[in-house]
Amino acid sequence: MPENEKALELYLHIPFCVQKCRYCDFYSAPADKEERTAYVDALLAHLRHSASRCRDMRVDTVFFGGGTPSLLSGKDFFDLLDCIRQNYQLSKDVEISAECNPESAAPALLASMREAGVTRISFGFQSLSDTELALLGRIHSVKNAISAFGAARAAGFGNINVDLMFGIPAQTPDSFGKTLDGVIALAPEHISAYELRIEEGTPFFRSQKDLPLPDEDATCDMAKLLTDRLSGAGYRHYEISNFAKEGFACRHNLGYWRGVPYLGFGPAAHSFWGGVRFEAPPSKEAYITAVRAKKWQDIEVNAHRIGGKEEMDEYVMLRMRLAEGVDTQDFSRRFGCDFETLYHPDKVLFDGGFLQKTPQGVAFTERGMRVSNAILSDWLDFGGNKDI
Ligand code: SF4
Repeated sequence: MPENEKALELYLHIPFCVQKCRYCDFYSAPADKEERTAYVDALLAHLRHSASRCRDMRVDTVFFGGGTPSLLSGKDFFDLLDCIRQNYQLSKDVEISAECNPESAAPALLASMREAGVTRISFGFQSLSDTELALLGRIHSVKNAISAFGAARAAGFGNINVDLMFGIPAQTPDSFGKTLDGVIALAPEHISAYELRIEEGTPFFRSQKDLPLPDEDATCDMAKLLTDRLSGAGYRHYEISNFAKEGFACRHNLGYWRGVPYLGFGPAAHSFWGGVRFEAPPSKEAYITAVRAKKWQDIEVNAHRIGGKEEMDEYVMLRMRLAEGVDTQDFSRRFGCDFETLYHPDKVLFDGGFLQKTPQGVAFTERGMRVSNAILSDWLDFGGNKDI
């Protein structure tokens, strides 16, 4: 049986935020209790509707992402997870993650989430400097972050992720080092770290000339500090932006990178099903209206079947994000052609210490991972221009 043939992942988007962070271009907005209830009802109806297409599938992971899932109530988590258990077949060791903003992750809520079946918490810390948090427009403080982490441990969570950012306004390699030390001292099982990107349409984009952003050298120093310090503390750099203690890689995200099908629920949520990618429009009002009217076609738009060269490029791009890289035999089995012939990775990249041969095929080195975006875009364009 091909790898992951029967596995399925569910993503539930919770599009609420108390206020927008200044760098954020995700779809989210404030909502009152009434709107949240209407939204959860729509998610429940959508989950029940989609179950019929998943009869022979096994749900391996569920991910509550946002937005801010910790703005849901404990009862909402119970209702949503009960609905999933009643309508879908779940793996015995299903991974159920929920993103939490430290400001809204109250001890009672964390205890309810645990009781409802959530197995993994992902905290959006971003920084352990109150100055940097304020510049980002985050609503939480360092104190909130530390106490939320302690509350999650007290609630019984043994699998916690902390999200960090680097290259942010007012940050220096020294202040980033302090953030890393503070996070390592908490000993989460997983750490994700992303370089700040200034996205169009955000307050940061409009005021970028005035932002005290670190220069390119300082940001490169931070990227190196990140990998050095985390590997020294026993975290494996298993994906470009992700580090985990042994056995704690995020299974949900691994599924995305390995091509496991997933269904997204909620506005702006993406799905990959039967080789087709589709998404829901980014409006919670439109989502609720379509679900109430059972106009399912309105929440499955921009459908695009992935096949041929595009599928191969996507396979290479996603696998190369991982430390394990591309398994060339798996590539041949799936696509009936030889990876080396089609993509012939440049010798210069091996000689320069960016790529390495592995027992399975080819992967980035630690150095290559830091510049992987630039290498992949050149490389895949080159591969894409070749005749098969
Ligand atoms: S909490 Fe997350 S989703 Fe909400 S505005 Fe901030 S970055 Fe965006």
